[in-house]
Amino acid sequence: MARLIDGREVSASVKRRVADEVAELNKNGIEVGLAVIIVGNNPASRTYVNNKKKACAEAGINSYEYALPEDTTTDELLSLIRELNRDSKINGILCQLPLPEGLDEKKVIETISPEKDVDAFHAVNTGHIMIGDYTFLPCTPAGITEMLDYYNIDVEGKHCVVIGRSNIVGKPMAMLLLKRNGTVTVCHSKTVDLAGYTRQADILVAAIGKPYFVTADMVKDGAVVIDVGMNRNAEGKLCGDVDFAEVEKKASFITPVPGGVGPMTIATLLKNTVTAAKRQNSTD
Ligand code: NAP
Repeated sequence: MARLIDGREVSASVKRRVADEVAELNKNGIEVGLAVIIVGNNPASRTYVNNKKKACAEAGINSYEYALPEDTTTDELLSLIRELNRDSKINGILCQLPLPEGLDEKKVIETISPEKDVDAFHAVNTGHIMIGDYTFLPCTPAGITEMLDYYNIDVEGKHCVVIGRSNIVGKPMAMLLLKRNGTVTVCHSKTVDLAGYTRQADILVAAIGKPYFVTADMVKDGAVVIDVGMNRNAEGKLCGDVDFAEVEKKASFITPVPGGVGPMTIATLLKNTVTAAKRQNSTD
């Protein structure tokens, strides 16, 4: 039976560290501020934004919400971002994705100043990740490496298989595992014989977006299984990409959904915001 990787426990420890750092900055007269932009009425986005604001408040970070209507134009959104880039009380800018149809996500990401890009989506920051020399790490993959560290799971020399190649999860995850000297295979929807790869994985990261996609027969005995998926099953219940009930019988470690990767994503966002504040105030 696998040992559970408890994202709530790990994230609480990261959040405590962040809160201590914020308190230290406050003592020196430095406030930490995060701008959170939400466009439209997507209920999932509203939940994510509320969770992020709550976590900011708990850590002593000032969050500033900018809720824009569904019919906002790209130009209007870009002009808000430019204003926030210049605003010294704002250290980090987060624009909740996905944006309503018709808005240019790429332009939005490019317009956020790389210094305030706490999601690490800007090409400057992804380029830094590529060369292994970075300030901000993308929240979800960085949260996963934090969890591996917490449980003393060594990556070096391990075969790491990442299913999914998105810019926000799969690709940066592969880079971070590579930096830790893992041997990395990235799989996607065009991969032929996916299970042939996943069965070789010492560390398997599933970032697909399909409920219960990874079944026990796709997993090697003793593998570490990280489930990034956040899906709704047929009953409308939150579930991951991994068939947890069956896979936990084979894995050595496994993340649950909920309570696994999700909480780590927010913890890393807070960490990145403090890093941004320190750099902008030259205390780092
Ligand atoms: P995405 O952009 O939709 O990417 C999904 C990836 O899965 C793509 O690379 C796709 O391949 C691959 N894929 C789809 N079907 C496949 C199949 N049958 N076999 C192999 N690969 C397949 O999604 P994402 O943004 O990376 O997110 C993935 C999941 O993680 C979602 O459930 C999302 O909600 C969740 N998520 C969770 C957190 C968190 O904090 N826990 C954060 C971010 C995302 P192609 O590239 O070939 O299309």
